[in-house]
Amino acid sequence: MASLPKLVDKSNIDSFLAGIDNVMTDCDGVLWRLDELVEGADTVLNNLRKLGKKIFYVTNNSTKSRETLVQKCESLGFIADKGEAISTSYIIAQHLKQINFTKKVYVMGTTGLTSELDLENIKYTGPGPDPVPENIFDLEKIIVLDPEVGCVVIGFDQHFNITKIMKAASYLINTECIFLATNRDERFPLRRTDLNFPGTGTFVNAVETASGRKAESVGKPSPKMFTVLQEKFNLDPSRTIMIGDRCSTDIMLGKNCGLQTLGVLTGINSLKDYESWAASDDPELWKLLPDYYIPSFRRFGPIITK
Ligand code: PLP
Ligand code: CA
Repeated sequence: MASLPKLVDKSNIDSFLAGIDNVMTDCDGVLWRLDELVEGADTVLNNLRKLGKKIFYVTNNSTKSRETLVQKCESLGFIADKGEAISTSYIIAQHLKQINFTKKVYVMGTTGLTSELDLENIKYTGPGPDPVPENIFDLEKIIVLDPEVGCVVIGFDQHFNITKIMKAASYLINTECIFLATNRDERFPLRRTDLNFPGTGTFVNAVETASGRKAESVGKPSPKMFTVLQEKFNLDPSRTIMIGDRCSTDIMLGKNCGLQTLGVLTGINSLKDYESWAASDDPELWKLLPDYYIPSFRRFGPIITK
């Protein structure tokens, strides 16, 4: 049995705000849902800014470069600049730069990912559609592997197919070939409840199974999403809060980095989830519980006034 997260409301908002200088917010499920603004989210962030809090946008969405993430923030009414917004595609490029990677990357992903690689002059091959032959055994005849490839990166790729899985898994036969994933999100929330929209974790699992290797994921809950910002902005973890809808990524990132955590119920996890984790006797499930929660950003903005 663990305690439930504390609800933040008018009665405790002042002490809650007094404890934070920096706000790291998840995007999809907190600020917007796909292309729709969560009503009031812009007011929340504007009011936090007025109070002098630093705001950072942190998304696992590898189809966004920092530039397109900022564009999306601005199009929905949020103030943002490139230094404050990070996506997993940016973290991949920073990671490869840090380890002085000089070979070529085999990329499963979109231009969001490749544009961040371009900015660091990292060579790559692989994005875009890749045909599947009528007779799949012809794959053995048609696949040409690039000897320069020294890393496989799996991000969200709408052209994901057997040809790509086979190429990635084949590069990974070489144990020196680095294996990275942008993130492991299982699926995304949709308005329709009769559909499951596969997330990048689905693709990562397929390549892991085919190759027999395990990818290193750089997205939330990996601490990398925090450490990149911490180094740049000298953030004090104890005065930083991570806000998110998906506890296995957002809240776990906060826990892994010693941050405060706030769950918002407009995306993946619900109060019922919190209640069942708190009532269980499994300490692994207790770890998913945020310190605080609010139902939505919708009515949160107006209570942040001083
Ligand atoms: N990955 C992709 C491809 C997405 O489209 C999304 C959400 O739209 C996500 C990941 C999750 O993003 P976030 O971390 O902002 O919830
Ligand atoms: Ca989210």
